[in-house]
Amino acid sequence: MSKIKENLDKIEQKVDFCCQKASRNRKDVNLVVVTKTATVEQIKEVYELGYRNFGENRLPHLKEVSTAMADFAPENDPIVWDMIGHMQRNKVKQFLPLVSRIHSIDSLRIISEIVKVADSLGRGFDCFLQVNCSGEQQKYGIEPRQAADLADEITTNFPQICLVGLMTMAPFTLDTHEITKTFRLAAKLFDDIKTSACCGNHFSRLSMGMTNDYEIAIAEGATDIRIGSAVFE
Ligand SMILES: *Cc1c(COP(=O)(O)O)cnc(C)c1O
Repeated sequence: MSKIKENLDKIEQKVDFCCQKASRNRKDVNLVVVTKTATVEQIKEVYELGYRNFGENRLPHLKEVSTAMADFAPENDPIVWDMIGHMQRNKVKQFLPLVSRIHSIDSLRIISEIVKVADSLGRGFDCFLQVNCSGEQQKYGIEPRQAADLADEITTNFPQICLVGLMTMAPFTLDTHEITKTFRLAAKLFDDIKTSACCGNHFSRLSMGMTNDYEIAIAEGATDIRIGSAVFE
């Protein structure tokens, strides 16, 4: 068995186990395979194993692999590419034609740039509002106490942006208690906004959890886990 298949089997087993433990349906947890360190050959292998949702955060690599994969994947079974990382405003125009979903909107400045480009492309984008739930200075994302207002504002003013939920990153620590606290805060914010119904039925997703912490993220309600190293290492 190839290393990648072995890795994905292991991840699937763990995801199954975590879903069972949390009394969640496996279908409610989407695996975004993060390809930022992967070669085109490796990505083809992941595609052939049945995965269709990939994540990237750097433009040159996204361009290279999405172009190659567009030739590889049949038109009726395409890949959904997600922008998972911080986007500079001056790169939005180049990123957007290549992706369907954006996990990292966190300011009106970046939103207005996305709206401008979306208008010129004549299409909309599924977006997650990135919230800094760990409180670390160096993390991107808006403050938790501003999340509900910004979510409301996006939904009211920008039809080009379909706000599908929240995204957060765990703190840079091995302390599982700290990680749990961060994810729990994101889940609480997510539930509050969902319950307030300001953002409609589309607001249904919670993007959190990476190689080192996806098990905790599933326990806390993640619907989209973003995993790179555990697949390609
Ligand atoms: C790189 C990255 C991931 C994947 O991280 P791994 O630890 O390799 O699984 C997920 N989300 C974001 C925003 C990233 O930049």
